[in-house]
Amino acid sequence: MIYDFITIGSGAAGLFCNVNLPKSSKKLILEKNKILWTKVLMSGGERANLTNIDIEPTKDYFSYNKKATIWFFRRFFNYDIIDFFESNWVKTVIEDRWRVITASGHARDLVKVLENNIIKNNTQILTEKDIISVEKEWEIYICKTETEEFKTKNLIIAVGWKSYPQVGTVWFGYKIAKQFWINVISPYKGLVWITTKQDLSKFSWSSIFCKIKISKNDKLIYEEYWPLLFTHWWVSGPIIYNTVLAVWQENNCKEKKDYSDFKLEIEFNLENTTKKIKKELNLSEENLTLELDIQELKSWKEAKVTWWGINTNELTKYLESKKHPGLFFIGEVVDITWKTWWFNLQWAWTSAYCCSEKF
Ligand SMILES: Cc1cc2nc3c(=O)[nH]c(=O)nc-3n(C[C@H](O)[C@H](O)[C@H](O)COP(=O)(O)OP(=O)(O)OC[C@H]3O[C@@H](n4cnc5c(N)ncnc54)[C@H](O)[C@@H]3O)c2cc1C
Repeated sequence: MIYDFITIGSGAAGLFCNVNLPKSSKKLILEKNKILWTKVLMSGGERANLTNIDIEPTKDYFSYNKKATIWFFRRFFNYDIIDFFESNWVKTVIEDRWRVITASGHARDLVKVLENNIIKNNTQILTEKDIISVEKEWEIYICKTETEEFKTKNLIIAVGWKSYPQVGTVWFGYKIAKQFWINVISPYKGLVWITTKQDLSKFSWSSIFCKIKISKNDKLIYEEYWPLLFTHWWVSGPIIYNTVLAVWQENNCKEKKDYSDFKLEIEFNLENTTKKIKKELNLSEENLTLELDIQELKSWKEAKVTWWGINTNELTKYLESKKHPGLFFIGEVVDITWKTWWFNLQWAWTSAYCCSEKF
């Protein structure tokens, strides 16, 4: 049998795309894990932070191809996904920093709606199908596991990247891109913490508002005022995720073993600092800063997302390969990168919708 659509990967992108593909077409989703949706269920600390109200596509997302964010987000954006869920009886609420969360506080509500819609839309799902290779014969794509093969006219790659490998994501998208001569902007671990050379255990689990400054060879490259979380040996929180992004960009997107040319400076605000920190650091109006040395940026295992990916210059407005008609890439595997924590799922929804718009 030849399917009209096969989607590899049952994350937010793969599943939402199948909600929107034509009902009368033959559709199959192949997922290597036993469980669908792993990352959606984890998002927002299992409360499903499905989007954000205050997003500016050109400011909060970026891509090697500067126009790409506008192309996609103007077609399907935050209010569209909220509408979709609300019209399926999932109430949402807006929390601090304009994060949109399910009112019930359960990610499972999103999953139920999506699963119901997929079933209504006649899509078949097979789990425990680890696709190890893809071949193209004339206009047909053949997806192979160790023992089976599945044929399709349109193949949608929605496999995420290598971040958080404990839930099954790997370099499969990279492998396919190389095989089909599709350019990839070197991927990097996003939303990771910074381990410091200094022992921070005295402040462990304190969260404070402060200004972070990061400089390279004494040249300031990024500063922001936002909450920061201390743990024993590392600092974390959205402000750190953005700091890591600045470090990575400053390094021309290359991994480094030694970060001694970078200096991380925390500028405290006495009103928003805990008594414990004030006392330990002897903070006063004249002494408000703490300098830290970067030991390392945490690994792929801790990374919540992958930044960069399939070059959007290689793709049409439907996220179809310009070189290989019928081959699509959606979700995290594509080079649409975001600054911080709350905007990732929105890209999964948007890219899934834009792909389905072709049909
Ligand atoms: C702990 C955690 C918390 C997060 N919280 C938030 C949040 O609050 N808000 C937010 O916006 N984002 C959050 N994110 C990020 C967000 O979940 C992801 O960016 C998004 O889910 C990516 O969706 P995707 O469909 O592109 O890929 P994924 O969800 O990674 O799905 C890819 C799927 O493809 C499957 N697959 C891979 N290779 C193969 C293969 N060869 N054969 C078959 N199947 C394969 C994988 O098993 C996986 O199920 C969080 C991420 C993590 C890890």
